[in-house]
Amino acid sequence: MSKVKYYYDSETLSYRKIEKKKGRKLKIFALSLLGMFLSGFLLLLIYINLPSVQTPKELALQRELNNMELQFELLNKKMNQAQAVLGEVEDRDNNLYRVYFESNPIPDEQRKAGFGGINRYKDLEGFDNSKLIINTTRNLDILTKQIVVQSKSLDEIAKLAEEKEKLLAAIPAIQPVKNEDLTRMASGYGYRNDPFTKARKFHYGMDFTAPRGTPVYATGDGKVTRADNTATGYGNHVVIDHGYGYESLYGHLYKYNVRNGQKVQRGDIIGFVGSTGRSEAPHCHYEVFKDGERINPINFYYGSLTAEEFAQVLKKSQEENQSLD
Ligand SMILES: [Zn+2]
Repeated sequence: MSKVKYYYDSETLSYRKIEKKKGRKLKIFALSLLGMFLSGFLLLLIYINLPSVQTPKELALQRELNNMELQFELLNKKMNQAQAVLGEVEDRDNNLYRVYFESNPIPDEQRKAGFGGINRYKDLEGFDNSKLIINTTRNLDILTKQIVVQSKSLDEIAKLAEEKEKLLAAIPAIQPVKNEDLTRMASGYGYRNDPFTKARKFHYGMDFTAPRGTPVYATGDGKVTRADNTATGYGNHVVIDHGYGYESLYGHLYKYNVRNGQKVQRGDIIGFVGSTGRSEAPHCHYEVFKDGERINPINFYYGSLTAEEFAQVLKKSQEENQSLD
């Protein structure tokens, strides 16, 4: 339909165009402009005051952000669990392994050190979720540091264990004469009657009585420092230097089959029972030295005896009988 409108003029008997007044047109235009402006302003007000009104894209982003935060929380929890497990390993390390190998425990501060003071996480600041990300990053950094310290500690312990193995192999820890070869335990360490003078005298070793020719064994790894009969009283005797301050002496041997400077291992046959030197009957007189001092050899037989056997040997060796020297 045409926008041009007409009316019937009865005076002129003809149709005439309806002419709109110019002023009215302008008024309508201004009013509609104002209406548009007002409704726009109203919409803006609604938009500002209702943040829940979001576009689909914003909603999707928000969902992703929420999911990310949830995952971060879960990661944090997992890291805390890992830290707890590591904490137990550290406890065992400090209170068992390091103590067993005579090494100082690593203090907690040292295991977790290096995360205070200067702000290491400046780059991560300035975002809504900065705190979460910084916490997670710091947790992971501490965990990493703890693992590195723990790993180094285990390396150290592995080295100490190797040393300890050497030490344990060196310590004179078995009997020089096998239990089944013994005819009797003649005498132990302590005050005994001298077989020659009958006077009470300190007997600094243990006498293992066995038939002449019974094998005598090196009681620990080491190096032979004596194999001769030039010391008074001991007759044919062997001395082994085990290192770590330990030495052992085997006296009154029928004969020895090692030479000075020879390396021996625990259990090697170094000679045979005899009665050379100041001796009453065939036996092996056995002494153990620590840092040059003679000590009771009985404390070293854990390698060859059960608990009951040890108790028996200890009891027998303490009986007030005469030494064979
Ligand atoms: Zn003796």
